[in-house]
Amino acid sequence: MDYVNGPGRNHLFVPGPVNIPEQVIRAMNRNNEDYRSPAVPALTKTLLEDIKKIFKTTTGTPFLIPTTGTGAWESALTNTLSPGDRIVSFLIGQFSLLWIDQQQRLKFNVDVVESDWGEGAKLDVLESKIASDNAHTIKAICIVHNETATGVTNNLAKVRQILDSYHHPALLIVDGVSSICALDFRMDEWGVDVAITGSQKALSLPTGIGIVMAGPKAIEASKTAQSLRVFFDWKDYLKFYQLGTYWPYTPSIQLLYGLRTALDLIFEEGLENVIARHSRLGKATRLAVEAWGLKNCTQKEEWYSDTVTAVLVPPYIDSTEVVRRAWKRYNLSLGLGLNKVAGKVFRIGHLGNVNELQLLGCLAGVEMILKDVGYPVKLGSGVAAASAYLQNTIPLIPSRI
Ligand code: PLP
Repeated sequence: MDYVNGPGRNHLFVPGPVNIPEQVIRAMNRNNEDYRSPAVPALTKTLLEDIKKIFKTTTGTPFLIPTTGTGAWESALTNTLSPGDRIVSFLIGQFSLLWIDQQQRLKFNVDVVESDWGEGAKLDVLESKIASDNAHTIKAICIVHNETATGVTNNLAKVRQILDSYHHPALLIVDGVSSICALDFRMDEWGVDVAITGSQKALSLPTGIGIVMAGPKAIEASKTAQSLRVFFDWKDYLKFYQLGTYWPYTPSIQLLYGLRTALDLIFEEGLENVIARHSRLGKATRLAVEAWGLKNCTQKEEWYSDTVTAVLVPPYIDSTEVVRRAWKRYNLSLGLGLNKVAGKVFRIGHLGNVNELQLLGCLAGVEMILKDVGYPVKLGSGVAAASAYLQNTIPLIPSRI
């Protein structure tokens, strides 16, 4: 596979999978173990306790499932809902579209609220639906916190406020795949009933663990939910939690040790510092985009994402070519535009194990590529805008203070 090699490092700036820290790679470089030995349950117990911290929950029950974000979606839905249940779901980009497709294939009655791609969920429409649903026919609200395809972050506190102001009991089910452990996410405070993420995003692990956090109301709902489920059934996990052996089937030992190290690194940096770092990376990227004279796909500031920026290119440029050249010429991996925005946007992922100087390298690469494809950019303009901001805001590395 020589053709994938290039000198130096690949600059991985897709919005997941992301760069894995060297410490995590080393922690995973180990032999298999008997998962029924005392050691693996002891390790698992620490993981289940500590994973709650990144969701900001004390009351949630975590499930670490050998799957991806897509499986975590399915686990969240099938354990809490029954076929035919009415759910309100927001279509704002490719990942919410895929989730809605899954919801429909699982035979829920999906009330789709659609926005233009680049806009956030229409919460005014949610409010009118909730206000008129006196019979409580709506069983769940499904919302993607951060739409990775368009770089749009939805306001979950507002969703909770709408449900509470009408005393509506619908479950709040949140896709936090490209937000949790990078953006401000508060499961307990926002009354999120189920939240999910995947190991390859902000946790900066390989793909392979789908993380589902179920609040008490969701656990209660799982006792009567009629959706067919086998592999994803929380009941099997809960049985083994009671026994203290934790695993209904074989976990990846390597990923468990990787997760332990990933969490240790996050706690060493401090979760709030991790979130602040993402906020700097997001802002610096947006300043660069502005300096290039390009537009952000995200239509309003209130929806700006600090984990991914989707950059709109002028109509005479094909964004797919930007991504292709990034890889072929500069060893830089950018995200493609997906579906409706294919050819129109390229995406810069700035989440997980990445720092400000790495981002500046990426931005320098993007400038050269833009020039390559015929966009009249002033080389250095985006890097100058981003670095002027970063130079004023980067704190000392917390563990080195
Ligand atoms: N949800 C969001 C917001 C995503 O960004 C993704 C993947 O990028 C998924 C769900 C699906 O996750 P996976 O590809 O791990 O199945």
